[in-house]
Amino acid sequence: MLDIAAAHVRAGGLVAFPTETVYGLGADATSAEAVARVFAAKGRPSHNPLIVHVDGEAMAEGLVERWTSDARKLAAAFWPGPLSIVLPKRANVPEIVTGGGASVAVRCPDHPMTRRLIERAGVPLVGPSANKSGFVSPTSAEHVRREFEGAMVLGEGAGPGRPRPRSVDDILVLDGGVCSRGIESTVVKLPVAIGDGVRVLRQGVISAEEIAKVLGRSVEDAAVAARADEERTGGRDSPTGVTPLESPGLLDRHYAPRTPAFRFTASQWPEVLEALLDLEGEDGSEARGVVLTIGSRGVPVPHVRMIMPEDSRSYAARLYAAFREADELGAQAIYVESGRENGDPIWAAIADRVRRATAALE
Ligand code: AMP
Ligand code: MG
Repeated sequence: MLDIAAAHVRAGGLVAFPTETVYGLGADATSAEAVARVFAAKGRPSHNPLIVHVDGEAMAEGLVERWTSDARKLAAAFWPGPLSIVLPKRANVPEIVTGGGASVAVRCPDHPMTRRLIERAGVPLVGPSANKSGFVSPTSAEHVRREFEGAMVLGEGAGPGRPRPRSVDDILVLDGGVCSRGIESTVVKLPVAIGDGVRVLRQGVISAEEIAKVLGRSVEDAAVAARADEERTGGRDSPTGVTPLESPGLLDRHYAPRTPAFRFTASQWPEVLEALLDLEGEDGSEARGVVLTIGSRGVPVPHVRMIMPEDSRSYAARLYAAFREADELGAQAIYVESGRENGDPIWAAIADRVRRATAALE
């Protein structure tokens, strides 16, 4: 199975692969032509850079100008794992991978099947989330299959009748089970010149504080800074000092279900109930709402309640699947209870995703 997938990668085709975060849409990162297929399949804007997945530090070193001591420390502490490290790229990384930028993000995922795939293909793989651009990331092979027409799932136990790609345009999906972490990797940009700082460009389950501890110096969290800016100016597209290249979509709608979705906190429950009562279908009849609640809350018929886990790890692992299920219920609106922001970095990363998937409940 991995042989078929590795050969498809080498031929320039797309192979979706499992990781501990979400499923990635893989292609040979050293081939501009293969990478172009990823952008086309996702409908991804060309300025949004892709993370390059490697099977270990040695492969990462071959993609960047200099694998710095900071990079070594982070790789030792967190790889394989959900941390993407941004450093100036070497010439062998095509510009299409980095959205035209001078640096590249590299990560070694914590999934044995995918590390074996990279090893067998012998090339690093770009791997944006295997979904149409802007929508919910997939956390199972089945999610990926539904996202791309004609995608073929290769299972561990596939026998002689197993599917084989007929053309380089076919999309293969390696089934490695349900993703354990469920939200995308933390992206950290490392300094290159003296005086540069360390910045977290995207929040994930590894926090700025954990990175700061390993590096022995302070780390700026660009997402937190951007949100403070937004709150100060009251605008969704306020100036943030974050360039579009570094963190595209930081404030944009992203990770979003197709159904209009709204975020609420525990104290806003009465407002949610009111919104549910007011929910109307196109013909003025009562329409269905779906509520993702933490713990139990009474939700009146015909609305549907989906109970989300109370601990942050399980909530994160469940979030995107819950978005997809809510979408499939054909509801008029989805209401999402986001967790307490109590200093737990996973709740902070969840809040970041929920914020970008929803509009705030007014
Ligand atoms: P996705 O592939 O959908 O998980 O998104 C990858 C994200 O990683 C991008 O949207 C960027 O925020 C970040 N990223 C990837 N490559 C780079 C890079 N070279 N420089 C800065 N950020 C990057
Ligand atoms: Mg994505």
